[in-house]
Formats: sequence, C-alpha cells, structure tokens
Amino acid sequence: MCSNFAEMTPSFLDTPIDYLKGIGPQRAEVLQKELFVFTYKDLITHYPFRYVDRTHFHSVREVVEDSAYYQLRGHIIEIDFVGDKRTKRLVAKFRDNSGIIELVWFQGAKWMAEKLKSNTEYIVYGKATSFMGRFNMAHPEIDIVTPELLANQSSFQSVYNSTEKLKYRNLDSDGIRKCLRVLTLQLNEQNIQESLTKTIIQDFNLLSKLEALKQIHFPDSKVLLERAKFRLKFEELFFVQLRLLRSNLIRHQITQGFVFNKVGDAFNDFYNHHLPFQLTNAQKRVVKEIRVDMGSGKQMSRLVQGDVGSGKTLVALLSMLLAIDNGFQACLMAPTEILAKQHFATISELLEPMNLKVALLTGSSKTKARRELHAGLESGEIHILIGTHALIEDVVVFKNLGLVVIDEQHRFGVAQRGKMHKKNIQPPHVLIMTATPIPRTLAMTLYGDLDTSVIDELPPGRKPITTMHFMESQRLRLIGFMKEQIALGRQVYVVYPLIQESEKMDYQNLERGYDALLHDFQPPQYQISIVHGKLTAQQKEFEMQRFIKHETQIMVATTVIEVGVNIPNASVMVIESAERFGLSQLHQLRGRVGRGADKSYCVLMTSYKLGADSKLRMETMVRTNDGFEISEVDLKLRGPGDLDGTQQSGVMDLKIADLAQDGQILSLARSSAQAILNEDPNLSSQENQLLIHQLQYQGKTRSSWSKIG
Ligand code: ADP
Ligand code: MG
Repeated sequence: MCSNFAEMTPSFLDTPIDYLKGIGPQRAEVLQKELFVFTYKDLITHYPFRYVDRTHFHSVREVVEDSAYYQLRGHIIEIDFVGDKRTKRLVAKFRDNSGIIELVWFQGAKWMAEKLKSNTEYIVYGKATSFMGRFNMAHPEIDIVTPELLANQSSFQSVYNSTEKLKYRNLDSDGIRKCLRVLTLQLNEQNIQESLTKTIIQDFNLLSKLEALKQIHFPDSKVLLERAKFRLKFEELFFVQLRLLRSNLIRHQITQGFVFNKVGDAFNDFYNHHLPFQLTNAQKRVVKEIRVDMGSGKQMSRLVQGDVGSGKTLVALLSMLLAIDNGFQACLMAPTEILAKQHFATISELLEPMNLKVALLTGSSKTKARRELHAGLESGEIHILIGTHALIEDVVVFKNLGLVVIDEQHRFGVAQRGKMHKKNIQPPHVLIMTATPIPRTLAMTLYGDLDTSVIDELPPGRKPITTMHFMESQRLRLIGFMKEQIALGRQVYVVYPLIQESEKMDYQNLERGYDALLHDFQPPQYQISIVHGKLTAQQKEFEMQRFIKHETQIMVATTVIEVGVNIPNASVMVIESAERFGLSQLHQLRGRVGRGADKSYCVLMTSYKLGADSKLRMETMVRTNDGFEISEVDLKLRGPGDLDGTQQSGVMDLKIADLAQDGQILSLARSSAQAILNEDPNLSSQENQLLIHQLQYQGKTRSSWSKIG
C-alpha cells in the first residue's frame, strides 16, 4: 500500500482548541469538559442543532405560543426588582407599537439592570413562557439596534447546544457561534482536504467539504444549507457503511470457516420424524440461508431478525443439528437464567427421542455438576450446551465448538460476543437472533457487517392479540376481566416495571400490587405466583414451575419474564405503569401471550396524566401487533442513542446524521459504498486511496466498535 496520503502532516483540524483566537486556557478547559471539544475538528463538528430566522421580527401581539421563540424590536419602558430574597428577579417591561411583554432575569439581574437603557431601541430574542395567562421571556438575548447588527442578521442563524458551565464562560450559543466564525474564516483549500473521491462528488452532486463546513455554520441560503447538510450526513454514513461492508468482505475473503457440507442423521431424523409442526416458509428460507453460509467455507456471522413468536428457536435448533451432523458441538446463549432454562427444557424435549446429549450451564450450576459438564464438553460427549453468559467463561472448553447461537442478543455486549470466537482454533459460526425487530436503518448500522435474515411470517393460526389501554379508574373492570379469563381456564401475567434508580419505590409498588391482588383473588379459588430479581434462582424456579404446572393462575413479576418465556396457556398480559416502559419492551412483554390457541389480551395500565410520547406509545401498542412497525416508531420517539444495545455500539458517534430521519441518505450511502467495493474490492485504485486514508484516519479516532470478535 503506497499512499501519499498516509504521510500527510498532521491536519490543520487536529490543532488543539486553545490555539484558536479568543479561546484561552479556561474556555478550552470548559469546552473539553462539557462538549469534548479538544481540537478544531471537534469544534467544527459541533454542528448547529437548529437555525433561526433573525431577519424577521414579530410584534408583541403575535406572541401567542408557549415555549416558541420570538424576535421582537422595541424599547424598555420600566425596570423593577421583584420578589423576596430567594426569588429576587429583574423584570423589564418591553414595548413595541403592538403591546408590552415582560423580560425577566433571575441571574445577573443587578448587572443587567445597570446595562439596560431607556430611549434605546433593542432587538430581543428568546423563548416565550406563558404564566397565568400572560407571556414573558426569561433571559432573552438582547442587543442594541445598530445598522451593522441589522446588516448582519441572517435568515439562517445557527443555534448551538451549550451548558450552564459554558454559559458562565460566555460560551452560550452566541459565544460558540463567534468561535466558529473565527475558525471558519481560516478554512481554505489547503487546510481542508476533500475526503470523498471526485467520482462520488460528481455522482451525488455534493458540495466540497470546505464549502459544506462553511455553509453548515453560516449558510448563505436555504439551498446551500440543505446541500451542506446532505453532504455532511452522506459522508458520515458513507464511511460507516464502507467500513462495515469492507469488514464483511474481508471476513468473506480471508476468515476461514468450518465447512458444514453434510446434512446428516441428526438434522434429517429430526426434520422428518420429530418436528412438531411444519416450518413456515420464512423459517424454511432462513434455515436454507444459514445452511448455505455454513457450507461455504467462510465463517458465518448472520443476524436473524424476527418478530416475537416467529419461531426463532426452531431455526436455531435446526442450525445446531447441522453442526452436530458435521462433527461439531453447538451452544446457545441466552440473556437470563429463566430463558436459558426454558430453552433447555424446550430443546431437551424436542430432542428427547434422539440420541443426543444436551446440557445446561448457568450461574447457579453447582460445582460438582459443572465439573461433570466440563468433562462432557471436553470429551465431546455433550452435543449442545445451553446457558447464560456463564458459557463465556474461560474454564468452559469445548472439544470442537462449531456454532454459537446468541439469542435475544441485545442484552449482550460486543466484548462478550467476541469472547465466543476464541472457543475453538478458528472462529465458530455465529448466529445472532434479535428479541424484537430493530429498525432498518439501525440494523444497517449496528449490524451492517453481518449478513441478515428476516423471519417475516408468524406460524399459522396465531390470533392477533387484542390490546387495551386502561386508566386507574378502570381497575375494577380489569379485575372483572381477569376473573372472567381465569374462569375460562386461562392464566394471567401481571408485570411491574423495575428501573434500577428507583428500585426501592418499584419494589413497594410491586408489593403493594401483589397485596391488592391477594385481596381480590383469594385462595383457595385463586393462587398467585410472584417472581422478581430479589428471589434466589431456586425460588424463582419454584414459582415459575407452579405457574407452568397451572397450580397458580396469576403470575406477578418484574421484567425478568420480559424475554422469551413461553407458556401457551397464559393468555392475558397486564402491564402496570405501562407508561414507564419503552415500546420494544412493551412489545416483548405482550409477546409472552398469544402463544396458544386461545384469544389473547394485553392490558396497558397507566395513570391519567400521560405525556405526548407516552400517549403515542400506548396508541401504537393498541393499534398494531407488528414489531417492525413498532420498532420504527420507537426509533422516531427515542432516537438511536436510547435504544437497547446502541450505547456501546458507536451509533452515538454520529455527529450529524440521524438514523430516525435519514434513512434515504443512509440507503444511498450504503449502495454507493457497495458499488465501489464491487468494482474495487481492495480499494486499490489510485482514486480510492483517498477512501483508504479516510478509513485509517477515522479508525485512529474511534474504537472499532463494529467488529464483533
Ligand atoms: P421467538 O421467535 O419469539 O423466539 P419461539 O421460537 O419461542 O419464538 O416460538 C414461539 C412459539 O411458536 C413456540 O411455542 C413454538 O413452538 C411455536 N412455533 C415455532 N415455529 C412454528 C411453526 N412453524 N408452526 C407452529 N408453531 C411454531
Ligand atoms: Mg425466542
């Protein structure tokens, strides 16, 4: 690789931030601490979060919307200190020819009072707040009107995120914009290198990098602003995709995989004689995709997406049987002990008529059992190992592990997954299954280097679950409904949220709820199980078993049952304080019912006062059972940063692109990256050296989060 770019001198953008005129050591320090701005590059990529039109003025009379921003022009006619010592504030009456509005300062009131003049025209910009039917503006920006000020007002003035500590150093949005003005004036063709090739720039009619960086902070027009956004988002997503697709390509090119080219007795015997039902077409298709992968001689890294109840377990089992047919062992890793045990029970039962050994390993496996298990794994006597992350521990050594299945994967960290790769002389095949669908854009970014299969069909005969949203006042109705269903022979889950920070309060809620249920559902007619995190594994198991055996009709639980539990006779899911759960969690929980032949129900209990987001979540749940649709709403509501599994993933490194909004740009960026790799897989052409260099440069500044193992 001879690249003239690789020898480039440190870039202008790598200059430490305190070199910028106007930023001394104190401001540099607070920029570093508050915004992680260390270099020019960090500052230039502190992109505006919105733009305001500073050429337009409202009249005071037009201030009608709470929390909206307004720009006014007028005079201060009176100032006054009001309130007692604690609530003391400066109130200035501001008038234009349509009316009067109060401007309020809580901090720096004394200084402000000295600064404000009468007989002077001001421009005021700020957020209107309605208080007792009247509007005021707290801490507005305020400037004396001058010809220069008017001339410099822009239709697209950038607004930046700031913090209290930054504001204290005069780095509010305005202060930050001033720093960016100083910086962008220094940018030129020499110190800002283009990072995309001429071909890409032409193909997508992109602004140059230099132009885009200037326009994003100080747009000359709406068109240029939009083009700058497009260019910067495209670039950001393009390199993420190029990196992912390239690592996929490299895996296909060089990582040897165990060849599973036989379909033998284990698979055939099970498939032909012991399969409890016909596979759905989607299951068949996915099993075939997996078979092709594992026979290819390359290591498989495949993601299987499927909605709750789409039958992922069976797909996993068939894949594991293929491993066994080819002389390998397989393991299945689940995120909780309950789920591991349940997989163990299901799979043991399915394989019962066959001569295969399945073992279970969890955190609570006893030392003696473990010793036997370790021996069985090392001798190859155990064919399938099922367990929790206890499987990862170094002491767990296989004779010949060929396939790792990771179920409900969002609970596992990247590092944990990586460790599984080291369990054989070359990496075993890896099959990852999601708990619920994840949005397309997120899948492309989080798992963009994996091959993907989608089970987009539910087994036949599933009746859609009816979801209802009840408020506290309808609790009597809920109890009546539960009794009706229990009388029909059904079982009911009642789930309480458990969020760590408020754990104590949550347990109180759980216990109070449990007591209330005991009151409404008295023995001997009714029996209630309870499962939560404070019980020992043994106690949990005991309570689960009572419910499974139908000795109890109601299971009160925290979210420990969220993932994977399969009890077909349970047909009612009551979710308490449903507003405190995220959408994917609600969908997961609802997926615990609707597994048998009976009509199933999900009841979302909430308080009266719901925010707009919570309302939308409840409405979405009531409206649809489609996990793919729900995941898209979830992404729009929460943004990628809050979705499960994204925290350590690097999705958070995105500075300008937004996976909830920029799906189209993402698709363009991905297909562009794919087209380039199709033509030049090693990026060896002269032109593509630029891309290699960019990948290397970015690689230095970010951890390789996308690599699984
Ligand atoms: P998930 O995809 O949520 O992990 P499971 O694998 O637990 O779903 O399957 C849900 C239920 O559907 C199980 O009871 C399973 O036995 C059943 N099931 C799976 N595949 C089929 C099929 N092809 N036909 C009928 N039932 C099926
Ligand atoms: Mg499952």
